[in-house]
Amino acid sequence: MRALEQRILKDGRVLPGEVLKVDNFLNHQIDPDLMFAMGSEFAQLFREAGITKILTVESSGIAPAVMTGLQLHVPVVFARKHKSVTLIDDLYTAEVYSYTKKTSNHISIAKKFLQADDRVLIIDDFLANGQAVQGLFDICDDAKVTVAGVGIVIEKVFQTGHKVVTDRGVQLESLAKITSFEGDQVHFLTTDD
Ligand code: 5GP
Repeated sequence: MRALEQRILKDGRVLPGEVLKVDNFLNHQIDPDLMFAMGSEFAQLFREAGITKILTVESSGIAPAVMTGLQLHVPVVFARKHKSVTLIDDLYTAEVYSYTKKTSNHISIAKKFLQADDRVLIIDDFLANGQAVQGLFDICDDAKVTVAGVGIVIEKVFQTGHKVVTDRGVQLESLAKITSFEGDQVHFLTTDD
């Protein structure tokens, strides 16, 4: 998505550890117009997939997920992050190692928000090594729902997350695909859109 790539080039900052900081339009301050355009793009890409629910993880997945839900007219559920979970009877939980924080969190979703006939679209801000998406896959498996697709705002294609999704045979759509941070610059997979 060209508008997103241009915004990354304008405002993104490459940090040590192959981390892209995009806090002035995605991870802290949010640009609602760009977010709405990304929601339109995801909605168009997954319009025929029979999506009944969108899942994401708090907090940075929520904005793109809501903008997609708005345009597919389906509810959005975000997994909550906890350091540890003790009262788990009514929750589906999974453990997720955070790429940026280098700590493990439990994520959880209330059982009442997932039904076995749901067809779920997972949306997240970044795909790095696929831990967050894998945690949501685990929850979907526990809930016996179908994962119909994964939509990612920014994929770092040189990391292993791509394989986590494609090994499962799920449709993966990423709006910006970064191939490297060579020379502290962002390099994209060339697209013609
Ligand atoms: P994964 O679980 O795929 O290894 O990493 C995905 C999660 O880590 C995302 O939800 C995001 O919060 C965070 N993350 C991974 N890489 C980056 C990055 O380069 N920049 C930022 N801002 N967050 C990242």
